[in-house]
Formats: sequence, C-alpha cells, structure tokens
Amino acid sequence: MAAAAPGTQPPLRYSVKLLLVSEEQLPAGLQLAGPGQSALQLEVQPGEEDADVTVTDADGVCVFKCLVNRDTEYCRLGKESVLITLGYNSALLQFKSQAEYSTFSNALKRCCNQKKEDSVFSQRTDEASAAQYFQFYGCLSQQQNMLQDFVRTATYHSAILQNHIDFKDKVVLDVGCGSGILSFFAVQAGARKVYAVEASSVAKYAELLVRSNNLSDKIMVLSGKIEEVSLPESVDVVISEPMGYMLFNERMLESYLHSKKWLKSNGMMFPTFSDIHFAPFSDEQLYMEHYSRTNFWYQECFYGVNLSSLRNAAVDEYFRQPIVDTFDMRILMARTVKYTVNFTEAAEEDLQRVEIPFVFQMMQSGLIHGLAFWFDVAFVGSLQSYDIQIVAVVDQTGFKSGNILDLKNPFFRYA
Ligand code: SAH
Repeated sequence: MAAAAPGTQPPLRYSVKLLLVSEEQLPAGLQLAGPGQSALQLEVQPGEEDADVTVTDADGVCVFKCLVNRDTEYCRLGKESVLITLGYNSALLQFKSQAEYSTFSNALKRCCNQKKEDSVFSQRTDEASAAQYFQFYGCLSQQQNMLQDFVRTATYHSAILQNHIDFKDKVVLDVGCGSGILSFFAVQAGARKVYAVEASSVAKYAELLVRSNNLSDKIMVLSGKIEEVSLPESVDVVISEPMGYMLFNERMLESYLHSKKWLKSNGMMFPTFSDIHFAPFSDEQLYMEHYSRTNFWYQECFYGVNLSSLRNAAVDEYFRQPIVDTFDMRILMARTVKYTVNFTEAAEEDLQRVEIPFVFQMMQSGLIHGLAFWFDVAFVGSLQSYDIQIVAVVDQTGFKSGNILDLKNPFFRYA
C-alpha cells in the first residue's frame, strides 16, 4: 500500500499564542501577549520537503506565515514553546500543552526530513531497505497477520493484563505500535497515558482506531521512528513486540533498546529479557529435500540450454538460506546452549554485533545437518506467581493428558 502522497495530507491545527521578536527586543525579556491574544489558530500544511506554517486570529486574518524546511532554524523553548528564526527576526509560538508542542515538533521533523542524516536509525539502516521495511508494515494485511497469530496476541494480552499492577495509572510507551493493539491492552490494564510510536503509514490507521474507540484522551499516536520522535514526558513502562526471525532479524530490538532514553530510571520493559536457544540437529529428509530443490539446475537440455554449470552456485545459494519451520525436538543431538539478552540492562550498541560462544555436549552420534534456533521472551512483572502447565504422556500408549493451573488462585478445601 502506498503512503499518502505528500502535499495531500490534511493540515494540522493548533491553538497558540504568538510573539514576534527582533534582535533589539531580546534583552528586554520575552512576554507573550496577554488574554487579548489568546485565540490564535496555528495551521501546519505538510509538503514533501517543507511545511507551510500559518497563524490566524479569531477573524481569520493571517498574522504570521512562513515556510519551514530543513534549513529553517528553530528550537524548543521551555516546556511547550518553539522559537522559529527567519533572517533577523524570530517568532515565538507557545502551545496550550506539552503534548500539542510534541505533535507539532514531530510533524515538522517529519516533513523537513530534519533528522534524516543523523538519527541512530538512519546511520545503521540503508535507506531503500528501510523504505521497503516500513512499506511492508504499512499494509493492514500484514498487521492482520500478526493480530491473527493467536499465540502471539493472546500471550501479550494476558502478560499485560495479568501484570495490571505495573500498568495502573502509569505512563506507557508502545514502540512500533502497528495497529495499536498493545496500547489498547495497556489501557485495559489501567494505564493513564500511552504514547504509541509507529514509523510506517499504518500509524494513521492506529490513530483512527484510537479515535473510533474513544480513547484519544489516553492514547497518543506519534507517527515517526522511535529514534526520531519526541515524547512530551518520560515513561514508567515500555511495551513492544520487536522480535524477528531468530529473535534478531529486522534489528528492531535495537529500536526497542533505544527507547530506554524515555524510560524513568526504575521503569519496566515488557518483554524484560529473551533467551535464544540452539542445538545441532540431524534430519536427513530435510537435507535431501532442500538439496533436491537445486536439481532443476542439473538439466542439460532446458529448451536446448545446458544449465548444469550453475548447479553448484544454486546449491550454495539454497544452503545460505535459513529455513523457518517447526520441528520435533527428537532431531536434536545435544543439550541446548542458551544466550540471554536482558532488555533492561543491554544497550543498543550491544546488538550491533552479537557473538555467542558455544560448546555442545553431544547426546548421540550421527550426521549433523544444521543448527536449530528458537527463542522465548519473558515478561517480568510484579505478579509473584506462576501459571502451571502440566502435560503427562503414557509411554506405552502415547496417551496425553494435561492442564493449565493458576497457582495464585487456589481452591482452599481445608477448614
Ligand atoms: N505492536 C504491534 C506491531 C508489531 S510489528 C503488534 O504487536 O501487533 C512491529 C512494528 O514496529 C511495525 O509496525 C513496524 O513498522 C514498527 N517499527 C519497526 N521499527 C520501528 C522504529 N524504529 N520506530 C517506530 N516503529 C517501528
């Protein structure tokens, strides 16, 4: 799905106070006009690489107008004001709240490509690859895929709701909110305010969902990369679903760790840590199946063309591809090795290069066809209990029986 064409976006509107200052006036001290000047309307019309900023009074008369682009000098002043300098004169705009200031400054950053050159994200990511990545997540069908992954979504739902103590009246940051689903869970768990940051164009749909669910007072969608947006305040909890194939794919864990710059010093990260496990496996059938995919290139007369000189290159290419699948644990030949990434302690830079030393204790002999990797993530909240999952199998018959019990909610039979 294509992003909304720049220049066709609806304008953003704010209520502001305005002071025009020349250099000579600066030492005299800055005083915004009194109550008589309270009803100004600021409108930002985002273009492709610039934005039209217009301030009008109650009668619709334009009192200030400028074009802001990447060369425009502007800076924040105090909590909720911005100073835009044009030549020798400056305009001081005071917003009604810190939140309004934040959405305004994020909008400016976006359309003026302000942070393009220097954000941590753009330094580490090829521009074309980032565009393709966010185009993918901009599709509702892709968000639907994730929402319909029952194990994923239901696990996040129960992890957040069961740890409601950690969310009650708290300020939460949802990193890469997508459709906004985790932000809604946070509100269900009692969060006072959620900042939902999303870099792809799906942000506008998240905003629509927030409005249609009447939660605009609780959830603020901030469109942009977590590395580039500004939040109006620091947060108590960060939530996110940043895991890719083999945990690390997509490099979104780095964005998740980056978000800690907004986290209060005793704040919580959900998920809190992840364990990646791996072990050597033997699977003749999988190996043969994959190998035989290259047989196509064995043909000596494909429409009269001999393809066989490319067979080896095809084998190399196929075997450089990691295979994503489920497997039976019995193919593993050694005890697993575990590597932990603690999201509370790790720094973004720690994931630029990941080195995992390993020694396998073999449990059986045989041909090793590859290494199997999988991971889990943990939500370490304040809930001091466990869900108990019991599965019992009768060896002779294979008959299986099991149950899930909630240890903190026992039935007290004794008198
Ligand atoms: N939280 C949603 C979506 C998870 S998929 C859910 O659980 O269903 C990850 C989302 O993070 C995608 O929508 C992607 O566009 C977004 N994302 C990835 N990197 C990001 C970054 N650096 N800043 C903001 N959003 C990002």
